[in-house]
Amino acid sequence: MRHINSLTNTTVKALRALHERKYRRQSGLFLAEGMRIVMEALDLGWTPKHLAFLDGRQDDPLVAPLIVAAENASAECLAVSHDVLAKISRKDNPQAVVASFNETWTELDQMISGRGVWVALDRVRDPGNLGTIMRSVDAAGGDGVILIGDCTDGFSVEAVRASMGACFNIKLAECSEAEFLAAIPSWQGQLIGTSLAASVDYRQANWSSPLIIMMGNEQAGLTDALTAAAKQLIRMPMLGRSDSLNLAVATGISLYEYVRHAHPEHK
Ligand code: SAM
Repeated sequence: MRHINSLTNTTVKALRALHERKYRRQSGLFLAEGMRIVMEALDLGWTPKHLAFLDGRQDDPLVAPLIVAAENASAECLAVSHDVLAKISRKDNPQAVVASFNETWTELDQMISGRGVWVALDRVRDPGNLGTIMRSVDAAGGDGVILIGDCTDGFSVEAVRASMGACFNIKLAECSEAEFLAAIPSWQGQLIGTSLAASVDYRQANWSSPLIIMMGNEQAGLTDALTAAAKQLIRMPMLGRSDSLNLAVATGISLYEYVRHAHPEHK
């Protein structure tokens, strides 16, 4: 275990840089903050590369098991000052624990040739929406999220935080729209697109699995090509003055319509 007080320490700078996508891609690492999320990752068998925690909290009953698990996984354990933790977290009030993990991506081919329940997001921009969707996919017993086109990063600090640790329990794939469209003919299941322009009510759709639910960009909705690729196109009724639902809310409603059909035993 190393004790670090210096704000200019190289490891501290490298961990802080993981707030930026460029450095995440370069290093293949991402950050997860907070005892609950880090514990969730360790419980699920993820092995941290670094575990930074507030110096003096080594014997805290919540922190001590994290240190033991991290040391068993040969992670670098760093007992750091409050200022160092704030620097890594880019927050005045940082969580007591921050860990780095290797990004793990699932190949699109592997996902398409298999089965399961997936949410495909067309150019999702908001990391909070993405994290919330990851959490909903996990809650609904889904397999993962496919990021199509120019999406926000599934391993950003904000997306990981909003996922509440669900990012450790679901798969993430990323591809261009062309790659997704080229892979679709191999998919042996339902492909449901969601669109405000659809004429079929979401309660009338065939929600059987294997299933991909396609959701559109926050501003522009699904592209014409993705809309055309959908085997079913569904909409949720809009009864008030709002012209659309928030992306994460629409995804949650769709996922739980799938749950209602697939798992009637869960009431
Ligand atoms: N102006 C955009 C449009 O015309 O599609 C609104 C996009 S909406 C904020 C983001 C995504 O959430 C949509 O592309 C769709 O996938 C889903 N969505 C939101 N409200 C919906 C609804 N009432 N029915 C079906 N999908 C909906």
